[in-house]
Amino acid sequence: MKLFSIFGNPVSHSISPLLHNSAIKALTLNACYGRFLLEEGEEIIRKFNSLNLSGANVTIPHKEWAYKKCDEVKGIAKNIEAVNTLVKEDNKVIGYNTDAPGFYESIKEFKEIKNALILGAGGTTKAIAYILREKGINVTILNRSSKRLEFFQNRGFECYSWNDFSPENYSLVINATSAGLNNNSLPYEEKRLKDIFNTSKYAVDIIYGKETPFLKLAKSNNLTCKNGKDMLLYQAVLAFNLFYGNRLSQKIIEESMKKVF
Ligand code: NDP
Repeated sequence: MKLFSIFGNPVSHSISPLLHNSAIKALTLNACYGRFLLEEGEEIIRKFNSLNLSGANVTIPHKEWAYKKCDEVKGIAKNIEAVNTLVKEDNKVIGYNTDAPGFYESIKEFKEIKNALILGAGGTTKAIAYILREKGINVTILNRSSKRLEFFQNRGFECYSWNDFSPENYSLVINATSAGLNNNSLPYEEKRLKDIFNTSKYAVDIIYGKETPFLKLAKSNNLTCKNGKDMLLYQAVLAFNLFYGNRLSQKIIEESMKKVF
């Protein structure tokens, strides 16, 4: 039997076991997916091996440790410098990032996106910024403070803090901050956001499970809106297929995981 797990701290809230076990059941695979509360991120690969796992997902705050400690990093995770999926391949633990393609998959119905404004400069912005750039979309990053912008400046992204920003026109505006997660705050000044929305077509908030003030404002400005549920879904769909060398039907995985929400 193949064993899989999610590593995080905290991890009790994670719906990954439900998502992955639903796919295991739908495909009648001999496997089981559990959860593991990991306190020391640097122990992640040692734990992965001692639990005899074939694959794992990694959530906050251990994605950077997974990147540093895995035997080899493949794909876009090399740029993002964070790993959310670990796969045992030929006795090595390989690190991938499916948050990035998962985000892109979640906005696949959005047409003709030329440029995007991302609000926030945290870990998730790294994944979104790199995948959009890889897909030929111009990316601008706007953050409340300047400290976290260094990573993006050093990698050639256009970025601003609130103090030095003059908006242009953006097809897509993304809230990748935690504003609105546990409160009712907007990620940027209301008047300025409204001005930005006036020339935009699409808005995405990567927060899921509630309608945030950001999405409410975007809807009232007649933008096509999307929350973070599909990003969560597709990072899991893509990770699960990686566990099996991308040999499974994405459609069946997707349909089985959608039943969980
Ligand atoms: P980080 O903690 O790495 O970064 C948080 C960012 O939000 C920083 O740029 C911070 O700015 C900014 N910020 C926080 N509060 C405010 C505020 N009140 N106003 C403006 N900016 C603010 O977070 P992550 O990148 O890990 O996660 C961001 C969000 O994405 C979370 O809400 C998380 O739940 C969600 N998420 C969703 C996923 C999905 O699958 N849908 C996957 C992963 C995360 P500053 O630098 O100035 O402090």
